[in-house]
Amino acid sequence: MKKILLILALFSVVLAGAYFLSVGVKEKPVYSVELESAIGEWKRYQQEAGVFDEAKFNEIRKITVGPLPRSKAGLSDINAKTITISPATIEKGKYSVRACVWHELGHYMYGLDHGSCLMMADSLFPEEITAEYWGHMKSEYMELVTRSYE
Ligand SMILES: [Zn+2]
Repeated sequence: MKKILLILALFSVVLAGAYFLSVGVKEKPVYSVELESAIGEWKRYQQEAGVFDEAKFNEIRKITVGPLPRSKAGLSDINAKTITISPATIEKGKYSVRACVWHELGHYMYGLDHGSCLMMADSLFPEEITAEYWGHMKSEYMELVTRSYE
């Protein structure tokens, strides 16, 4: 009797593990390591402002670094459910990476257009400029996003 209970207990642990594994894999976009902290920062700001649409975010298949046409720093493809950041953006520096991730998520999650704020300018600023105005760029972006949610 004890043996059967033990086997049953083990079996349910395995089943639960398999369930959480499959759910876990499906529920999160795949990230490139280089983008993880920028995505985390963006997500925290959206959550704190109460505008984070978790279901929509989790539908994104991947947010990764990958080759793009020379003129593009990043690209969000709503049909393919992917966001791609160019390796050249990674080389520019961490503020450029952050700005590009926020920009592409702005297109993908909120349908923001170019020119609606500094973060949504149609090309990246030099790294030093983005670093200097980073706080301002974020608050302007968040103001825009929270306003459109009211
Ligand atoms: Zn854009």
